[in-house]
Amino acid sequence: MTQYNYDLFVIGAGSGGIRTARMASGYGIKVAIAEERYLGGTCVNVGCVPKKLLVYASQFKDHFQAASGYGWTVGKSTFSWPSLIQNKNQEIGRLQAVYGNQLQQSGAEIITGRAHLLDAHTVVVDKQKYSAERIVIATGGWPSVPDIPGKQHVLTSNEMFFLTQLPKSIVIVGGGYIAVEFASILHGFGVNITLCHRGHKLLRGFDEDIRDFMVHEMTRKGVNVLLNTDIEAIESKADCFAARLIDGSKVNTDRVMYATGRTPNSTGFGLEALGVELDSEGAIKVNADYQTNVPSIYALGDVTNRVNLTPVALAEGMALVNKLYGDQSGSVDYDMIPTAVFCQPNIGTVGLTEAQAREKYPDIDVYKTRFTPMKNTLSGIDEKSLVKMIVVRNTDRVVGMHMVGSDAPEIIQGMAVAIRAGATKAIFDSTIGVHPTAAEEFVTLREAVS
Ligand code: FAD
Ligand code: NDP
Repeated sequence: MTQYNYDLFVIGAGSGGIRTARMASGYGIKVAIAEERYLGGTCVNVGCVPKKLLVYASQFKDHFQAASGYGWTVGKSTFSWPSLIQNKNQEIGRLQAVYGNQLQQSGAEIITGRAHLLDAHTVVVDKQKYSAERIVIATGGWPSVPDIPGKQHVLTSNEMFFLTQLPKSIVIVGGGYIAVEFASILHGFGVNITLCHRGHKLLRGFDEDIRDFMVHEMTRKGVNVLLNTDIEAIESKADCFAARLIDGSKVNTDRVMYATGRTPNSTGFGLEALGVELDSEGAIKVNADYQTNVPSIYALGDVTNRVNLTPVALAEGMALVNKLYGDQSGSVDYDMIPTAVFCQPNIGTVGLTEAQAREKYPDIDVYKTRFTPMKNTLSGIDEKSLVKMIVVRNTDRVVGMHMVGSDAPEIIQGMAVAIRAGATKAIFDSTIGVHPTAAEEFVTLREAVS
């Protein structure tokens, strides 16, 4: 029988890789995990975590403004971007150490450096060869910027988290999660934002009411939202950049940020030579058990480009380890995955959009309400909330829930449990609300609007 150095070798210590390595070690097998950049991967270093910290920071301007309606006199406030970034870096450093400790305590060996695959059972890091019975690729993704003249001047989300100075103005290109979140964050710090998107609405894939609501809200707050357009070239000028749009007009700006999607990290470390199959976007192709066409090599998380969210990468890691070393339980159910966009106001959503539900079911009922959250009555902040529920008429099953408003992500997390448990509209109707909250709107929707 072949003797390997390890039972399992994981490449990439991000959300999916760390969870896989820790869980597998828990089964008493010999595990190594290689990481070339930072423990914790995208989510901890240049994703969910620092993003959410910036989101919190960006909300204080509104809180200060709202305070006077509630009787508070707030003194002159100032904001220091360098302090925020320094504090954020400190917190990320703490989290990296926590992940390192957790991995070590689990028994997994951490190998620092870029991993290359030599063959189906051998990985090389820093000229050192390691053999393993199985290899898991969890190498994530990287911002993708289209090839345009002036591309070298562009920032991506990676750099945004380490800017030494806050720009006075910025053009953000894209209409997805990152573009919308960063537009809200930077707007909260008083940066002049132009959001430039090639589509006719932001947030493709979300419910149309939410998409309409967000364009309206962002525009009302003062974000310059340019739709159906794109940047042709970026020129560097003496004191700014000039972004030339496809209609020939120019926008002068301090910085240009691209948030035009992410490419799977699947090249340059030996997958090509091994013949591991990729799809047209560069994502590693896997079967239902996360196995590639090379039987000893598995892949999960963003590098497989399915649902690119941290909890999904975690769930895939757990499912794979349970399949390989455990009781086979816990495969990932990709249905009804809740998701949130941490823009202002927040978006939380789970299940089908109205359009998807109409395609899937012959008859649906749609319930929705738009309201002023109670906090905004005295605050003077003119921001509305939206709650929407989609119900299949003949079964009464709730198949989609969407919300825009403060704490929508927190609220939708609970709703996702109900919807996955098969809750009917009648169950929502018979549930007593928690008053006064925005969440109670979901149990008091009485009249279908269509
Ligand atoms: P990653 O976390 O990207 O980890 C891959 C790791 O592999 C990296 O550390 C990389 O350095 C390493 N690596 C790559 N190649 C090699 C190699 N050859 N050798 C050694 N190491 C290698 N998701 C949410 O659920 N909620 C959010 O709020 C959210 N916000 C986000 C905000 C931003 C700005 C971004 C960019 C993403 C956000 N995401 C969010 C998505 C989330 O970060 C990813 O889905 C998640 O990190 C994917 O985990 P992963 O393990 O697949 O890859
Ligand atoms: P998204 O896929 O969400 O959005 C990309 C945007 O860029 C889309 O609006 C797309 O337009 C546009 N675009 C793509 N290519 C081009 C191009 N060549 N020129 C102009 N515009 C282009 O990607 P993001 O980069 O925003 O985020 C990556 C992923 O990270 C997300 O999909 C999500 O999975 C994850 N993420 C999750 C977050 C969360 O959970 N809160 C937060 C941030 C990221 P079109 O719609 O027309 O294709």
